[in-house]
Amino acid sequence: MTKQIQHPVYTLTNECKDCYKCVRHCPVKAIKIENDHASVIPEKCISCGRCVQVCPTNAKCVRTDIEKIKNLFIAKKDIYVSLAPSWRSVFENSAKKMIAVLKKLGFKEVSETALGAQEVSIHDAEILNNMNKGLLISSACPVIVDYIRLYKPEFSKYITPIGSPAKTHARMLKNTYGNDIAVVFIGPCIGKKNEADEDDGLIDVSITFEELKYWIADEIGDISEIKKENDYEFVPYSAHEGTLYPINGGMNETIRKVGIKPEIQLMEICTISAFEKALENLNPDKLSSPVFVEALACESGCITGPCIASNKASISSISDVMNKVKVRNEIPQKATTVVKCDYSPKAVSSSKYSLDAIQSALKKIGKHTEEDELNCGGCGYSSCRELAVALLDGVAETSMCVSYMRKIAMRKAAAMLRCMPSAIVMVDNNMRILEANDSFMKMFAGEMYDVFHSRPDGMTGASIDRIVDFSDIFSTILKTGKDLHKEHYPVKDRLYDISAFTIEENEIVGAVITDVTQTETTREKISEKAREVISKNISIVQEIACLLGEHMVETETLLNSIANDYDDKSEGEK
Ligand code: SF4
Ligand code: SF4
Ligand code: SF4
Repeated sequence: MTKQIQHPVYTLTNECKDCYKCVRHCPVKAIKIENDHASVIPEKCISCGRCVQVCPTNAKCVRTDIEKIKNLFIAKKDIYVSLAPSWRSVFENSAKKMIAVLKKLGFKEVSETALGAQEVSIHDAEILNNMNKGLLISSACPVIVDYIRLYKPEFSKYITPIGSPAKTHARMLKNTYGNDIAVVFIGPCIGKKNEADEDDGLIDVSITFEELKYWIADEIGDISEIKKENDYEFVPYSAHEGTLYPINGGMNETIRKVGIKPEIQLMEICTISAFEKALENLNPDKLSSPVFVEALACESGCITGPCIASNKASISSISDVMNKVKVRNEIPQKATTVVKCDYSPKAVSSSKYSLDAIQSALKKIGKHTEEDELNCGGCGYSSCRELAVALLDGVAETSMCVSYMRKIAMRKAAAMLRCMPSAIVMVDNNMRILEANDSFMKMFAGEMYDVFHSRPDGMTGASIDRIVDFSDIFSTILKTGKDLHKEHYPVKDRLYDISAFTIEENEIVGAVITDVTQTETTREKISEKAREVISKNISIVQEIACLLGEHMVETETLLNSIANDYDDKSEGEK
């Protein structure tokens, strides 16, 4: 039973810049794009790590399992390291120093995974020597094994029915030191994390060389200070020809060294795409000799694994590995440790869609005819039809089609240009019009309007000098790169507001031009009217004031005479 744990490869959603590079490189398209972000589909993923290697923003990550090891330390477990033979292409240390560093981190002992590899080769040779014809595929690479089980299920029965070198080695260590020990695999591979997750009591935890490097830097820092290293050796003993395993063809070399019948054909295939091609149209029943395929998911074998944490040339890495191989004089003909494994098919369900459904999905990305299908790969899928199927599967979005999005963007821009009441023009560094909208034609083409209007590319190519009287604005901006804004710029009997700006420095200039003559005239008319009204008002007010003034004088006179009369009367009575 598989433990319910996080898949080894995942995405930091906020870091994803939806470039679709991971989709493009994923050999099995186990990536879903939703809301412009990529995420791994665990049940489809074979943990090859290609997406991690290619993601330009480091949004694709590998689960870290160092905490699991620390928990085993807390639980006081004796932890043995199964160290993958590719370590020599990553770490410059001697074997003794490497063991000392790992022991400093807290591991009980360090052993070489290559011991398990030797057992696997002996057992494979035995199987092959008993075959008359037919196909046998190596089970050493967990990524290849998962690929076959999920995507080529009909070939599952040809996978060697034994565990990988790492699993075999874990069994060896537990047989030697007791089932109570824990085994931690350290190597270049993400797929091995799945092997550890299988909960079959073999590998307890699997970490990558990158995790180890980080852990060493964090906990030890300068490893040159570790002095006590001379006493250390790999346990229970050092490996021999098994250390050839991480290089392309290394496994086959060990099988040859064990000894096989001459008619047995050993082949090496690296990468999922090469392996996929190799299986195309293959009918294993028609093979007339025993054929063994050493298949590895990484380009030059495990030394170019996804978590190798080294930028060494692969030739140097291969050489480093080969330099340390010590072949035994005599190789046993019978394996002492064999982990039986059943690699049954676990095919991913793939939906079958009708032609109609595919065609309507294609229409959603603007592919109405076969000519529209560019198959450019910009979306991450190798053909438009593949993207259409992914859309139907719900793992892709229409916005992934680059050509469709460009078309939509251009249409939107063209519609906006067309509808703008202002004149818009773009001019190149030869002072030729690149683009002009209808308003520009109406404003400046004059009697040539009909000619330009009837042309499919409108005014494109026309010299701006011949069209407008303010072409110096364009040449100035092309030279200086500085934007310009002119208000009420007079040209003949018109007034324009002109905003000219750089689109591409010294290459393309754009301008938005608004004819404000009408507005200015209206404004002038309004102010004239206003002035008329004001002066009328003023005269009315003056008139009123006059009348009021006259009225006041009259009132004053009247009141004075009443007062005088009143005064005269009072005097008389006295
Ligand atoms: S490679 Fe994938 S995960 Fe990385 S940024 Fe591009 S789309 Fe996102
Ligand atoms: S690890 Fe490999 S299979 Fe999984 S999503 Fe990434 S590229 Fe695809
Ligand atoms: S045209 Fe669009 S759908 Fe077709 S392959 Fe290119 S990007 Fe993908």
